[in-house]
Amino acid sequence: MIIVLKPKTKSKDLKHLISKIKEYKLIPHISKGKERTIIGVIGDERVLQTVSLESFSCVEKVMQILKPYKLASKDFKSTPTLVKVGDYFIGGKQVILIAGPCSVEGREKFLKAAKMVKEAGAHILRGGAFKPRTSPYSFQGLGEEGLKILAEARDIFNMPVVTEVLDTRHVELVNRYADMFQIGARNMQNFELLKEVGKTNKPVLLKRGLMATVEEWLMSAEYILSNGNMNVVLCERGIRTFEKATRNTLDLSTVPLIKELSHLPIIIDPSHGTGKKKLIPAMARAAVAAGADGLTIEVHPNPAEALSDGDQSLLPSEYSKLVKEVEKIAKAIDRKI
Ligand code: PEP
Ligand code: MN
Repeated sequence: MIIVLKPKTKSKDLKHLISKIKEYKLIPHISKGKERTIIGVIGDERVLQTVSLESFSCVEKVMQILKPYKLASKDFKSTPTLVKVGDYFIGGKQVILIAGPCSVEGREKFLKAAKMVKEAGAHILRGGAFKPRTSPYSFQGLGEEGLKILAEARDIFNMPVVTEVLDTRHVELVNRYADMFQIGARNMQNFELLKEVGKTNKPVLLKRGLMATVEEWLMSAEYILSNGNMNVVLCERGIRTFEKATRNTLDLSTVPLIKELSHLPIIIDPSHGTGKKKLIPAMARAAVAAGADGLTIEVHPNPAEALSDGDQSLLPSEYSKLVKEVEKIAKAIDRKI
């Protein structure tokens, strides 16, 4: 950390600041220039996160050198983390395909969808039982009944299941049925929820918040990791920008960026990322080309009748075509589906 002091700082104020830095077992290196004094703080400056240094009257500016996240960073672990979900590993050579309808709408419909995405080549099954809807009058999900259907589909089709957990009160319940928790975009900064899933050892698919920076997203991952759960997979699902032509702006640059900053796997959700089914195959291909560790895509046997996100849901036949296309891209970059 570098602390720039105001001109004409009094030596008693400087002493006070120095003693504060030493209190945290950090070493201050003072460099006095003609006009300004600068302090280089040596040691893990993150211990100072709770101290408001800029509130010291002699401090003009504080510059952080270390990233605020620790366990999520490449400095902590330089090799890629593999997250095991069922018999699959996310973060390895295989590009993992998650697919299924936005919501679990009923037993027959869901089993039909599961069968179709399995035949198309998906590895992990998705479906929401607790839905975060903008309107309280929209379909809210089937709750525990939906979880039971997911678990049944897992057993029939031998596919692990991922589903969203919306609330701390449901963590235990969802943990009983699902193979992977999904933390939705709207809950990315629900810190109590992050801590609760962090106390389990179940894999967590952490979606990027609608308005979250990459640093905020990694800090949310840090909440889960610092509570003991190292099985975190990041999911870019688009952010809100001024652009209205698509539902969200899918930030594919996060794939190489996260690979640079973190050891955690990253997957892409082109369904919520675009909100338009026509754009999904191209974004899926681009995501795999960019090095994504997986894709999560909404597929519905009858999108026109879907209770949520029908506009961005692919037909099973369209999904099957997409899988064949991304398979070629994966091969070209020495990965596999
Ligand atoms: C979903 O996966 O259906 C969902 C609600 O996603 P997000 O949290 O990214 O909007
Ligand atoms: Mn959805």
